[in-house]
Amino acid sequence: MASAARIAVLGGGITGVTSAYYLARSGFQVTLIERQPGAGLETSFANGGLVTPSMSDPWAAPGIPRLLLKWLGREGSPFLVRLGAIPGLTSWGLRFLAQCNARSWRKNTETTLRLCTYSHQSLKDLVSETGIDYDANRSGTLHLFRDEFSMEKTRQSAELVGSLGVRSSVLDADGCAELEPALASQLDRISGGIHYPGDEAGDAHMFTQNLATICASLGVEFRYGETVERIEVEGGAVSTVVTDRGEVVADACLVALGNASASLLRPLGIKLPIYPVKGYSVTYPVGGWNGAPVVPFVDDARKIGIVRIGDRVRVAGTAEFNGHDKSLNRKRIDNLERYFLDLFPDYPDRAKGEGWTGLRPTTPDGIPYLGATPVRGLYLNTGHGHLGWTMSCGSARAVCDVITGRDPEIDLSGMTLQSR
Ligand SMILES: Cc1cc2nc3c(=O)[nH]c(=O)nc-3n(C[C@H](O)[C@H](O)[C@H](O)COP(=O)(O)OP(=O)(O)OC[C@H]3O[C@@H](n4cnc5c(N)ncnc54)[C@H](O)[C@@H]3O)c2cc1C
Repeated sequence: MASAARIAVLGGGITGVTSAYYLARSGFQVTLIERQPGAGLETSFANGGLVTPSMSDPWAAPGIPRLLLKWLGREGSPFLVRLGAIPGLTSWGLRFLAQCNARSWRKNTETTLRLCTYSHQSLKDLVSETGIDYDANRSGTLHLFRDEFSMEKTRQSAELVGSLGVRSSVLDADGCAELEPALASQLDRISGGIHYPGDEAGDAHMFTQNLATICASLGVEFRYGETVERIEVEGGAVSTVVTDRGEVVADACLVALGNASASLLRPLGIKLPIYPVKGYSVTYPVGGWNGAPVVPFVDDARKIGIVRIGDRVRVAGTAEFNGHDKSLNRKRIDNLERYFLDLFPDYPDRAKGEGWTGLRPTTPDGIPYLGATPVRGLYLNTGHGHLGWTMSCGSARAVCDVITGRDPEIDLSGMTLQSR
């Protein structure tokens, strides 16, 4: 497609805004439509902040079906399937279960890692191009273990991503405390950890907002507070995007609507298996707390991350299958708070924790949908699940290449509609 063409980017989360950036830089006239009053206010708002190619192994893994059954309806579990959600989950759930075998796990990890690694490099390139600030924390991530069993399990994924080029070092409890002195009081409860020095963390919301400002200076038109109602197609090609405020005529349209993508595309005959998996975070100001951790760490067994982002510490995680419900469940927030305060009883002001919930747009294999569709001029950048911040720059850059007709710098097989 000629680079001076008009393109409508639907969705102003991290995925839509990074797409707008690469498209504007390639010479497109970009209009971004977002229903919220600003960029990055839904799932990209208060996520875990981790940019972690090291966590490329998908949720669908051998052993997970048994754990899901064990955790069914249990409020304190890392994965919670609410009984009422089961009828709406059947088709997605069956596809998820079909991925829970060693062969698919390995293949999906390799595909995800290819995208995550490219994406992290693209983020670094974008930072050197723009100087964007997002409270980056470049201390890697530390995966902590409370027992030998979970350490052994995670060693398997460390070995696989290691064989694909991700550096890591295995640490005993003393080594963990040496790396992150805030853990020194926990030595009797930690059996060890794996440190991935190449990972980073940062504020995805701050990044999205600052990148939106950069996009505006490149000529991107932002239409905030406007809801996309449908995409019209004529003669097999995109013609118009219809919103609650009118119409946007465009030569091409990129869908980056996260959890809203599937319902918008269904009338066009494009069926995407994206389920909104709810997660929570609590953010604490560091204030005068001297013992605050600096190195982000993840407790794999509980699916909780504790991440220092600028002058805040964010505790994030857990996965709840309950449709599009976004209510803050006090018990789930309490679990995160208890976890944090149990590790750091010296945190001075527990009342200051700010709870948040977001819905991860999740596919059964953990891999997003990128690139062309059977409708001419209609493209996808959606379904990034629990790794959307990590995958954002690379997904947007590769999709922009597809739109302009350039060969993407990575092999997109396994990530496109056509290849799965
Ligand atoms: C608790 C939690 C922790 C996480 N931690 C991490 C992490 O540490 N690292 C990581 O890489 N990822 C993490 N993620 C995942 C990451 O946050 C998501 O994958 C990412 O934010 C998805 O971005 P998106 O742009 O696709 O979706 P969104 O940010 O949801 O953007 C979609 C946008 O589309 C807009 N929209 C929807 N419908 C319409 C419509 N009809 N018209 C106009 N606009 C519309 C929405 O308002 C929204 O702004 C986490 C997620 C959660 C919930």
